[in-house]
Amino acid sequence: QPVLGILGGGQLARMLALAAAPLGVNTLVVDSAADACAGQVAPLRLADWSDFAALEKFAAEVDVVTFDFENVPADTAHWLAERVAVFPNPRALAVAQDRLAEKTLFRECGLQTPAFEAVDTREGLDRALAKIDAPSILKTRRLGYDGKGQFRIKQLSDADAAWETLGANAHGLILEAFVPFKRELSVLAVRSRDGDFRVWPLTQNWHTDGVLSMSLAPAPEVGALQSRAEALARTLAEHLDYVGVFALELFVKDGELLGNEMAPRVHNSGHWTIEGAITSQFENHVRAVLGLPLGDTSASGFSAMFNWIGVLPDAAPVLRAIDGHWHDYGKQSRPGRKVGHATVCAQDAKTLAARVGEIARVLKREEQAAPALRALR
Ligand code: ATP
Ligand code: MG
Ligand code: MG
Repeated sequence: QPVLGILGGGQLARMLALAAAPLGVNTLVVDSAADACAGQVAPLRLADWSDFAALEKFAAEVDVVTFDFENVPADTAHWLAERVAVFPNPRALAVAQDRLAEKTLFRECGLQTPAFEAVDTREGLDRALAKIDAPSILKTRRLGYDGKGQFRIKQLSDADAAWETLGANAHGLILEAFVPFKRELSVLAVRSRDGDFRVWPLTQNWHTDGVLSMSLAPAPEVGALQSRAEALARTLAEHLDYVGVFALELFVKDGELLGNEMAPRVHNSGHWTIEGAITSQFENHVRAVLGLPLGDTSASGFSAMFNWIGVLPDAAPVLRAIDGHWHDYGKQSRPGRKVGHATVCAQDAKTLAARVGEIARVLKREEQAAPALRALR
């Protein structure tokens, strides 16, 4: 049986391993964290991401390497790529790790972005603010996730506070115009080793404090945005010679798509595909990186996903719901941490709204579900 090596042992690795098993693919997960949630399938422990002695053993035991964690250092990805097939390739990973390189590539590929400027000094921040103005967001170029490493500049006088918070970041910063977007969408896409390319229906997403809170798929009333997003994702994937699943996070403003960021891996906004699509993002990622034919990316109905942040609510209302699905990542509760999710599916939008509304009511999550319920109306 082929062995898929996964760098990073979080919930994405666990869901990849669960999708790999029926394909006859074994997985070997490595992580440097002792409490990695894919622990059940993670016998290999690294001291850190440059622990080449342990990585040597890992490389010898696996046929293909992929990522649950996109911030594996570029040196480690290149070192592995000299020994074993690594998908997505280290160049694609490197671009997606750096917001400046990523947005520059988006524009080269015809995807507009919020106005942005690189910022390396306090004076540089003033120069960037002179061009972009407030409101804007100062972000670290690297290593940010779940809204961490960001400072919202509401007015120009916030510049000092923004610099105090983020100025010491060694990897540089980027200032972005704040986009008063109408909605947030993501496109999940997959490209195989021989260039077959597919996308799932667009997903609509809502964030709270920079963390994904709810997703709805297929996103209602997207019209021509579906084919537009598909064409942009394909251009990006071909440009990077990308293999595997990736997500492109998009803002919709004045009917146009703006690129926020890409995730070079399976993505939280695609979790609904496990129960709500013919082939899940996890299965298609495994198929793609192992050189197997890709599966159908159509939705099998309508799906909504609740993200559980910090603490898990009671599972029973979801388990009782028709076509309700529970995912407990087995993690310790911690403020802001993704500890699980639930997906609810239905054959039509009205039935989905009724199921989501009932779960939200019983769990007292009305506020979390409200925007998705409005969109379903
Ligand atoms: P992720 O967990 O998705 O990797 P992240 O830390 O990389 O998150 P972003 O995706 O940059 O953060 O931002 C998180 C959220 O903050 C976005 O989904 C969006 O809701 C909001 N946001 C980010 N940038 C902007 C912007 N320029 N204008 C308006 N809202 C923004
Ligand atoms: Mg991100
Ligand atoms: Mg994001």
